[in-house]
Amino acid sequence: MLRGGPSYTGGVNRGPFLADVAVVGAGPVGAAIAWRCAQRGLRVVVHDPAPGSGASRVAAGMLAPVAEAYFGEHELTGLLTASAARWPGFAAELAEAAGMPFGHRTEGTLVVGLTADDLAEARRLWSYQQELGLPITMLRPSQLRDREPALAPRVRGGAVAPGDHQVDPRRLVTALRTAAERAGARWSPAAVGALGEVDARVTVVAAGCGAAALTGLPVRPVKGQVLRLRAPGRAAPGFRHVIRGYADGEPVYLVPRTDGEVVVGATVEERADTEVTAGAVLRLLRAAVDLVPELAEYDLVEAAAGLRPGTPDNAPILGPLPGRPGVLAATGHHRHGIVLTPLTADLITQLVVTGVADPLLAPFAPDRFTAGPRTQEKTWN
Ligand SMILES: Cc1cc2nc3c(=O)[nH]c(=O)nc-3n(C[C@H](O)[C@H](O)[C@H](O)COP(=O)(O)OP(=O)(O)OC[C@H]3O[C@@H](n4cnc5c(N)ncnc54)[C@H](O)[C@@H]3O)c2cc1C
Repeated sequence: MLRGGPSYTGGVNRGPFLADVAVVGAGPVGAAIAWRCAQRGLRVVVHDPAPGSGASRVAAGMLAPVAEAYFGEHELTGLLTASAARWPGFAAELAEAAGMPFGHRTEGTLVVGLTADDLAEARRLWSYQQELGLPITMLRPSQLRDREPALAPRVRGGAVAPGDHQVDPRRLVTALRTAAERAGARWSPAAVGALGEVDARVTVVAAGCGAAALTGLPVRPVKGQVLRLRAPGRAAPGFRHVIRGYADGEPVYLVPRTDGEVVVGATVEERADTEVTAGAVLRLLRAAVDLVPELAEYDLVEAAAGLRPGTPDNAPILGPLPGRPGVLAATGHHRHGIVLTPLTADLITQLVVTGVADPLLAPFAPDRFTAGPRTQEKTWN
């Protein structure tokens, strides 16, 4: 709950709908949908006992449609690119509406390889990304170090993705909640145990991993362990770009914040626990220091694990829930929920308001996982 904010204790089936829209889950996705719907004049109630406590609590916040473009994920790459393009306008509007910064930085991303093998692996992906027409440019080692002198001399080569930016997810959720509340959204501190408890014309399930139990959709937890370091004296880190790549076969990313924090991530594990293991900390720190040696002098302030809402095809699940009139899914954002927040919020809000699905949503409809022919309907209510 926002301190001092209005609260809403909800009600179960008390006659005419208590709200136009109920949003289940106040991570970045749910909070942004709540904000957008409230801006459209809808009566919005957000249900979440612990807003911002899901995957976004540990997420790095990379807005990386280029560096995250992987073989065989064309449709997802298109969605990431479309959402990243909305980020500058979204960030400016949110900063104004919430009256607070949330660490949106636009210095770009360097993707590097420590060894010759690391570089060879990275180059395959860069070539693929260039074939797609994505903005990524290979750099000589001297060009890399001109951009970031903090990089280890051993780094063999790299590339720059100038359009891959970053934001601080914890501050983002706080800003979104503030903006949603200022636009008139109300908050219910109760967890939703079943969709039948919700009293609204439209229910949007934006509960991250919690969506599986509520909807039966194939959303599974994918564990990620992450470290947070801090530069001595809370000075700004000695590098400005997001740095990511491979160090002796170990994938790693380093995300510098202006307040001195550096996020080091992340493992990708098919597990549902949130324990932090010594082995993961060791591997992440070794890879981080291999790429940027000065990190060995930083304070280690946090080691945490979170659960990404993964799906069978790594893409989000967006749109009407089959067999449940009035229920929309906005979940399964897996590794990309922060970059996908603006577009998800806009498309789901448009669907709520008009009842018509944007064509962009078609590949991500929930019914792609259900048996039988896909529905061709463009409207849902
Ligand atoms: C280690 C790690 C690094 C990541 N890095 C990035 C990155 O760099 N860039 C990027 O774009 N993405 C990243 N992600 C992914 C991103 O964090 C997620 O995709 C994103 O947080 C999904 O947002 P969400 O709002 O759907 O879900 P969540 O952030 O998981 O939030 C779900 C919310 O729903 C609530 N909830 C759950 N069940 C219920 C219920 N029954 N009733 C009411 N409320 C409920 C929870 O309390 C929570 O507040 C990362 C994730 C991890 C774990």
